[in-house]
Amino acid sequence: MLDLAITGATVVTPDATSLADVGVTDGKIASIVAPGKLEQATKTIDARGMLLLPGAVDPHTHLDAEMFGATTADDFESGTIAAAAGGVTSIIDYAFQAPGGSLSEAISRWDDKARGRAIIDYGFHVAILDPTPATIAEIPKVVERGVSSFKIFMMRGFEERARDFLRAFKMAAESGALLTIHAEDEHLIGYCTERLLGAGNRGVAHFASSRPPLSEAAAVLRGLKMTELTGAPAYFVHLSSKAAIDEIRRARRNGSGRAVLAETRPIYLYLTQEKFLEPQGEKYVGYPPLRERADVEAIWEALADGTVDVVATDHCSWPLERKIAADRFTRIPPGMSNLETLVPMLYSEGVVKRRISLARMVELVAANPAKIFGLYPRKGAIIEGADADLVVFDPDAKVAVHAGEMHSRADYDPFEGIEVTGWPRITISRGEEIVSARKSTARAGRGMFLARSAFSSS
Ligand SMILES: [Zn+2]
Repeated sequence: MLDLAITGATVVTPDATSLADVGVTDGKIASIVAPGKLEQATKTIDARGMLLLPGAVDPHTHLDAEMFGATTADDFESGTIAAAAGGVTSIIDYAFQAPGGSLSEAISRWDDKARGRAIIDYGFHVAILDPTPATIAEIPKVVERGVSSFKIFMMRGFEERARDFLRAFKMAAESGALLTIHAEDEHLIGYCTERLLGAGNRGVAHFASSRPPLSEAAAVLRGLKMTELTGAPAYFVHLSSKAAIDEIRRARRNGSGRAVLAETRPIYLYLTQEKFLEPQGEKYVGYPPLRERADVEAIWEALADGTVDVVATDHCSWPLERKIAADRFTRIPPGMSNLETLVPMLYSEGVVKRRISLARMVELVAANPAKIFGLYPRKGAIIEGADADLVVFDPDAKVAVHAGEMHSRADYDPFEGIEVTGWPRITISRGEEIVSARKSTARAGRGMFLARSAFSSS
């Protein structure tokens, strides 16, 4: 007897997209069979007319994080409820090393934030902010603990300590860790920012020109060379511009033996920098900034042709009041809410509009992040033996995005008013129905820590 049967859906597996019935036992996918061939189940979900997708894996979130003297609107409870409501069943959040603190201490601190609150499974990366010899020596132990990726910010203070960071890169490479890199050149940005502020241009209308595509491309190139020198696999987070994507393409063509991977973020697929000219344009501020139409098109192309491997949210939510309070563009806390719209927006704007296939969408938000971050095949695919993290997705649902109906504690949504075709109807985590008809029924704290494998490029 199965615990759960999901019948009649079009199921997206790594091999095919076809009608199938899926059986679940003990929180795992027990069988995927032709329609009507499933054994008896305690509970059955009739999913005729629906798609059945693997739960998305979002490897880039910031929940309960402090930045710019404030704490993000979402903690691990509201953030993971928003995630689950949007079809995301695993997240990897960024734990930040405190100045002078250890990497293990950062992980423990983040563990305290997540435990008892998260409703879906979660892992951590650690952001290395202080690459002392003691920090570097800790890297192999942290990888063994299941935290197999690190974040490097090529900003504020990076250049000053570039040699220390190179030592950390080398240790990461030798320990089987993946480096996730925020690539923006601090000196190019500093120069542009000083010129703008010096001329009295403080408003958000000038934000995009303070961090031009060149500053992203320059840092990507430098990050590529630094990781090539040290043999470290590199994953560039939230790429926003054609110039940066071109550097990734060139590096891949030239090859170097180590992995070069790329991520983008929803806002760069749907919005352009004209948003900064609107009243309350501060709402759309993230690092890097929104770009031009040609960049948006270049990123879609890169999603389709395989240059960009992952779409991740960089969910970092703030109340509107906090966002618009700054007296200059450098003081606007960066980031916005995105977890609930990741999958439906990509389906609506990508699959429905035929920019990418449904199978490619599933790779971008589930299979690829699971593989890259050491969670596959437990997460990221509908295959026998995997965790039963599943999304019954209604491809015909019409939903207009309204902040008031979303689960994030941010009181605005960057996609407010956009009409979306396709929305999750039921989200299942390890066999348990946790969201149904946009309502969460999950117990806070049911989410479990995901110890991840070391990086493997195969
Ligand atoms: Zn981020």
